Amino acid sequence: MKRKRIVLKEGRDKSVLRRHPWIFSGAVKKVEGSPDLGETVDIVSVKGEFLARAAFSPQSQICARAWTFEQQEIDKAFFSRRLKAAKKFRQQLGFLQENSACRLVASEADLLPGVIVDRYADCLVVQFLSAGAEYWKEQICGCLREHFDCTTVYERSDVDIRSKEGLEKRTGLLSGEEPPELIEIIENKLRYLVDVRAGHKTGFYLDQRVNRKLLRSVVKGKTVLNCFSYTGGFGVAAGAAGADMVTNVDASVEALKTAGRNMELNGIRQSAYENIEADVFKLLRKYRDMARRFDVIVLDPPKFIDSKGQLKRASRGYKDIAMLGFKLLNPGGVLLNFSCSGLMPVDLFQKITADAALDAGVNGKITARLGQSPDHPTLLSFPESFYLKGFMVKV
Ligand code: SAH
Repeated sequence: MKRKRIVLKEGRDKSVLRRHPWIFSGAVKKVEGSPDLGETVDIVSVKGEFLARAAFSPQSQICARAWTFEQQEIDKAFFSRRLKAAKKFRQQLGFLQENSACRLVASEADLLPGVIVDRYADCLVVQFLSAGAEYWKEQICGCLREHFDCTTVYERSDVDIRSKEGLEKRTGLLSGEEPPELIEIIENKLRYLVDVRAGHKTGFYLDQRVNRKLLRSVVKGKTVLNCFSYTGGFGVAAGAAGADMVTNVDASVEALKTAGRNMELNGIRQSAYENIEADVFKLLRKYRDMARRFDVIVLDPPKFIDSKGQLKRASRGYKDIAMLGFKLLNPGGVLLNFSCSGLMPVDLFQKITADAALDAGVNGKITARLGQSPDHPTLLSFPESFYLKGFMVKV
């Protein structure tokens, strides 16, 4: 049988040769064999040389995503090998302990474009973000059941980017038992409740694990303002490490309810924390006007940038909160300033942080450069897989 193919334009094979997995529609000369949505195609140069084997996404600007740069079959055995390799990597990190949570499969960074698998104790939560991932969904789920100890596989493909791939949002049980309303997981020896059905992303911001651990080293006996707290990830870490007072701030009442339960679950006494439902932008101004001060401030806002055109506006937002954050710090205080926007370059984010300190009238030193936890690896050939960046700054 003749393979279905995408022939690239002359000179447009450079990025595939560098093993970047995305093939943009502008680089395509012709599509041969009328492949279906998500079907496997060979990517070939104008001379017909094999470059990659990929999933076809005709509706997206990224019209194919490479599964492999070798001439191997894309079938259940292929996914089985890739998933086993992803598991082994987390095992080596020591991230697969009982009742723990981590990202088991991180899409392109695990050479599986569009496939996300997060583990929360016995429950696997999956996202199929690309046409190719959707096409192989059943086989991928089969492999997960075979290779990973789990009682539940639950789908959370309720993300906007699916529409760019011509796919609808979908959530629900894929196999096993319905997950409980809240799943308890252990991270850095602390307990957290996770709502895999309705929580953000697949339920928890697993990418901040290493930074939540780092926070513990600077909070003993301190007052901590945890902005954009979600379910209290950083707040619990601070409280458990002996912070005098933790103030969790979020716009979501639901998230704060779980934050309260998480603080309690870890034995943090009620007088040592408060949960405040507020818009961080407004609350920081209010605290500035009240001359309220903190020893440690965490700023972990949601993604501000979905497209390059939003970079300028987002930069102003990042600078605004960082400037207010610096102003609210006691002398000797520490600011943890994060951006999870992949389109925000790290050097620009450093400049924004520096400008914010300047405007706040403080001298700051970077004491740690922060990134996503290692279960969210950065693939060298796919720099886009680095998205979460941050600075720990001491004033
Ligand atoms: N630091 C958290 C993750 C933060 S996610 C952790 O470690 O788990 C970002 C959070 O910001 C979400 O919970 C969202 O509800 C909240 N949020 C978004 N915009 C906000 C705003 N303007 N003011 C307050 N909270 C906001």
